[in-house]
Formats: sequence, C-alpha cells, structure tokens
Amino acid sequence: MSTGQHPLDPPVPRGPERPGDATPRASIRVAVPPDLRFLLPTRRRNGTPDIPASATDTVGHVVESVGIPLTEVGTLLLDGRVVPPSARALGRSIAVTARPRPQRGPTDPPRFLLDVHLGTLARRLRLLGLDVAWYPDGPDSADDALAARAAEERRVLLTQDRGLLRRRSLPDGALVRGTRVDDQAADVLDRFAPPLAPWTRCVACGGTLAEASADDVAAQLEPGTRRTYADFSRCTACGRVYWRGAHAARLEHVVAHAERVVAARRRSVSR
Ligand SMILES: [Zn+2]
Repeated sequence: MSTGQHPLDPPVPRGPERPGDATPRASIRVAVPPDLRFLLPTRRRNGTPDIPASATDTVGHVVESVGIPLTEVGTLLLDGRVVPPSARALGRSIAVTARPRPQRGPTDPPRFLLDVHLGTLARRLRLLGLDVAWYPDGPDSADDALAARAAEERRVLLTQDRGLLRRRSLPDGALVRGTRVDDQAADVLDRFAPPLAPWTRCVACGGTLAEASADDVAAQLEPGTRRTYADFSRCTACGRVYWRGAHAARLEHVVAHAERVVAARRRSVSR
C-alpha cells in the first residue's frame, strides 16, 4: 500500500519550490464542514485551520494538505467564489463542502473496486448484488494496479487509504467510513444509493449466479445438504454452489437493512 507521509501528519511545505524561489508564503484559512472534520489532524479539528500557501499552490493542493482527499469534496469556494481544484490559492479563505450524496459514479449503476483491506466489505456488497472487484494480496492488489484497473474498467475505488485517493488517474473514488463491515456497507450504500439485487452474485468472486437444480449440483453437495434444500444456484464464473442455509435469517436481516439505507437516501433526493 502507500508509503510516505501519513495523512494525519502535519502538512509539509508544498512545491514546486525551486532553490532561491522567493515566493512569499502567506497563510490561507480553510473552512471545513463538521462532517469532514474527522479528516483533519487532531489539533485542527476546530475546522478552520490556517495553512501556509505560496503563490504556486492550487486550492486542491491546499485542501489535500490538511488531510481531505478531493473525492470527499463537493465544491470549493475561494473567497466566496466557486473555483476548480486547479485554481491558484491566491486569496484569504477556502471553504470546502462535503460531496453531495448520492454520488454518481462513472457508470450507471456504479461499479466498484475495493482495496485489499476491504475484503469483508467486498463480500457484503456482492451479497447485495453490486458489481464489486476485489483482489487479495498479489500484484493485482498493488496501488498502481488498482488505479490502472479502476481507470480501465471505470470503477469507483473504495478505500480507507487517503494516499490512494490522491491518484490523479482514478476515475472516481470514495473514502469508506467505519471500522465494522456493517458501518462500512451502510456508508457506501448511503453514499451511492445503488440499485440492489440481493442473492444474484457470488460473494467469493463477484460472478453472476444462475439457478440450478438439485441434480445439476448434486456432485458438489454433501448428502445432507442435498436432502435438506431445494433451491440452488451456481456461480457462472467460478462454479461455486449456493443454497439457502443456516445463515439465511441473518442475511435476510442484512439485506433488509441495506434496502432501507438506500431507500432513505433516495427519498432525501426526491424531497
Ligand atoms: Zn464465483
């Protein structure tokens, strides 16, 4: 994963600054809304840090330097005027707004790519029918490979690594909130309000499931399973067989909760 400066470390002076560059470093005030303040270093959680900025710094750079990836930002105001992240930070204040929800992905419905640490979330989102790519440790899980694949397949990168979200080649990304998978899933569903299709995908590989008869899958089942269950499906990609088993009640609860989160976010838009 990313190396280098931890996002919570104090910002280092930003370039480009050449030796002998006499650009004066004025300071600029960055106003951060409450829902993004958890990203600020602890000593700056009052939400309006003063940041040294030189004439060559961009607004986007200044905002990133306080710990806020631009994927989390809705609009940027420089002295009250909306500006793109590439605008020079020549002003007295930058006001940041949080990215509006639901967020539109590069495709509709959105497809996702999860970093190596979010395997449990990947399984959860697949259970709900989302198109989720996830690679366990290996070359496909390296930062460069993830960024390239996200761009190639127009997937939204989901991660908790802010350094990864600073890659300019990403089509889009989102910093996943929460440490428990329930909270992480709720955050993603609230953020994107994607259409759900529970029980249609293989949680192991993300392939689509097709109905299968007990005879079709008999060779892959223990005799007890064959006798107890009637409804089977099989992954069209990896061949794994699924049936409604002992965890069905808990999973139904998970699905029902996910549907409520998405419905609530959609209602918030239509109001
Ligand atoms: Zn599969």
